[in-house]
Amino acid sequence: MEVRLIADPGYDANMYLVMSRTSILIDTGTGLSPEECVNALSEFIDPKDIDRIILTHRHIDHVGGAKALSEACDATLYASEDEAPSLRSADQVTTAARMFGKELDKLEVESIGYGDVIEIGTEELRVIHTPGHTKGSICLYEEGTKSLLCGDTVFAYGGVGRWDFPTGNLQELVRSVKSLTEIPVENLYPGHGPVVQGNAHKHIQASYRSIKVYTLV
Ligand SMILES: [Zn+2]
Repeated sequence: MEVRLIADPGYDANMYLVMSRTSILIDTGTGLSPEECVNALSEFIDPKDIDRIILTHRHIDHVGGAKALSEACDATLYASEDEAPSLRSADQVTTAARMFGKELDKLEVESIGYGDVIEIGTEELRVIHTPGHTKGSICLYEEGTKSLLCGDTVFAYGGVGRWDFPTGNLQELVRSVKSLTEIPVENLYPGHGPVVQGNAHKHIQASYRSIKVYTLV
């Protein structure tokens, strides 16, 4: 399994192209420059070969490009069962679209369940429910390469996602980050900031130390 960072030139959310015998896209950026995203994907693959796009959570900077990219790739959109309804109804509040002065289109989204396994050729991505940043945030874990695509739950160098947006919850986020410290993770692919290759579990442990502080008061 190969993972490529596709940086949206118009905004700051990371997208990841996961390539194996089949290929999937994780997150879609804000959607300010879909053509440039398609061009960036084309450097690695024929975008039409991407058959699934998985959204780690409902926020506009991860789902804003979903409509244009799913059409360009002819791909099906997936989100967790707690996030999908807000995307189908284009909830402008809990997706933070309104807060960022954007307008989200209604999206046709299939639900994926917590614990589901997504097959990509010979490898599998396991869906891990990590609520806290949003209610239905997910991480995707690949056991062979010990890779975690973690959305906005944790970031490199001990960062953690915000819990003060709608549907966020500090206690849930603490539990989610703790659960990630219990998985062997070598490579971390977060929704913002740098990728970590090698010893990523140390970064997640640092995230847990930094968020745990908030629960001591
Ligand atoms: Zn987010």
